[in-house]
Amino acid sequence: MNDDLESKLKQLAAWLKESRRTVAFTGAGISTESGLDAYRTPGGVWARNRVVYFQEFMESEAGRIEYWRQKAEAHASFATARPSAGHLVLARLEQRQQLAAVITQNIDGLHQDAGSREVLELHGTARYVACMDCHARYPAGPLVEQFLASDKVPPCTECGRDRMKHATVSFGQALPTDVVAKAVEYAKKCEVFLALGSSLVVYPAADLPQMAARRGAKLVIINDEPTPLDPLAALVIHDKLGPVLSRVESLLDAAD
Ligand code: ZN
Repeated sequence: MNDDLESKLKQLAAWLKESRRTVAFTGAGISTESGLDAYRTPGGVWARNRVVYFQEFMESEAGRIEYWRQKAEAHASFATARPSAGHLVLARLEQRQQLAAVITQNIDGLHQDAGSREVLELHGTARYVACMDCHARYPAGPLVEQFLASDKVPPCTECGRDRMKHATVSFGQALPTDVVAKAVEYAKKCEVFLALGSSLVVYPAADLPQMAARRGAKLVIINDEPTPLDPLAALVIHDKLGPVLSRVESLLDAAD
């Protein structure tokens, strides 16, 4: 690593060490290092498929079948993905009480797989399916297999209806208000806010780092490309997350 990067990482390690409350906010970048498609990039899942909006899902059986066809395709990569180095470092920082929470835009469940416990999923999770009528929840894997075997949306075993949707936020569907409220609380009360692998262009999620910075938190942006919020940040690193976070962790170890 070059000297400039190394001095930034030392600065970051020092801030993490003295911070009483650090929050991480993660986007697709942390999961592309696990081999998952970045959803918004060319060739990503959404670029290849038409969007099934929430209203269409609720009103049309054909819309629901198209939705499930797309989700079944995406599920295969989710099911085999493993946490990246970045996910694992964040989980260990939480264990050593140097990280209060992870707020994520991702729906892949990899933070939990890595061992993170306080995870706020702004866009829900693809690991579960929820009935839109009676709110029963089911693990997604078996239902995806049921869909692939039958080409029919698996009915809810509680209420018998078929408006069964992955527990993710669809286009045209509101973000979960309780999760957003908790994320806002973390953003307002943290001392260091790490924005990791997010292009920081999707609102309202991108409000969170701004909120944190306005309240006096040190905003640290680590992303392989520039973001619109770079000018607000106390520290900006354009690099791969895995190696950067691993190096920060070893600096913290050395300081202990
Ligand atoms: Zn139901």
